[in-house]
Amino acid sequence: MSIKENILYFDEQLKSTPCRLVAVSKTHPAEIVKEAYDAGHRLFGENKVQELVEKHTQLPHDIAWHLIGHLQTNKVKYISDFIDTIQSVDSLKLLIEINKRAELVNRTVPINCMLQISIADEATKYGMTYDEAVALLQSEEYRTMNYIRITGVMGIATNTEDETKLRHEFRYLRNCFMNLKETFFFANDDFKEISMGMTSDWKLALEEGSTMIRVGSGIFGSRNYRK
Ligand SMILES: *Cc1c(COP(=O)(O)O)cnc(C)c1O
Repeated sequence: MSIKENILYFDEQLKSTPCRLVAVSKTHPAEIVKEAYDAGHRLFGENKVQELVEKHTQLPHDIAWHLIGHLQTNKVKYISDFIDTIQSVDSLKLLIEINKRAELVNRTVPINCMLQISIADEATKYGMTYDEAVALLQSEEYRTMNYIRITGVMGIATNTEDETKLRHEFRYLRNCFMNLKETFFFANDDFKEISMGMTSDWKLALEEGSTMIRVGSGIFGSRNYRK
């Protein structure tokens, strides 16, 4: 199937759900990404700052870019003037820097931030524990931030075909979301996203309450990391 057909397929699959598609374009050049753009898609995800900056420069500026990979504090400045959402916020230190950089470029719209919670059992994956997310939201620093807004949680499930395990991890993330919502965002409509599910497991994630699936190879084909 062509990229356009893949985009239309997901549009169809998601149209009667509250879930949106983040088209993950990492490793694919701008002209390929443009095919998805020309099919009407406007929400794209990248996991590396340099690649994100390049594609932002090369592609139309009505794209909402989501950073979905680990972000080092010293790189926030490269994306602070255009990024729509940083899904991979995994420390208070990083959030402080994002808020600071957004203020420095005088953003009129806050940077949307999502708290990445670690839900997989692989120790290598980034993300906070639920308790760390709570501590962040309770901090004095967070309370005085005016240039960011927290829009939800994000998680990367274990790379496995074990459906029971995947459902368990997705359910855990949804529970984290609901607890944080009740405790910190009860009357705050900004906090509404649960970003979970990728090419291999998005249907399960959707069943478990995902509001944002992040699909790369299922749209653009397999990635070649060596070129
Ligand atoms: C690459 C990536 C995806 C998309 O992976 P696919 O299996 O190609 O759909 C989703 N989320 C994150 C955080 C990624 O890095």
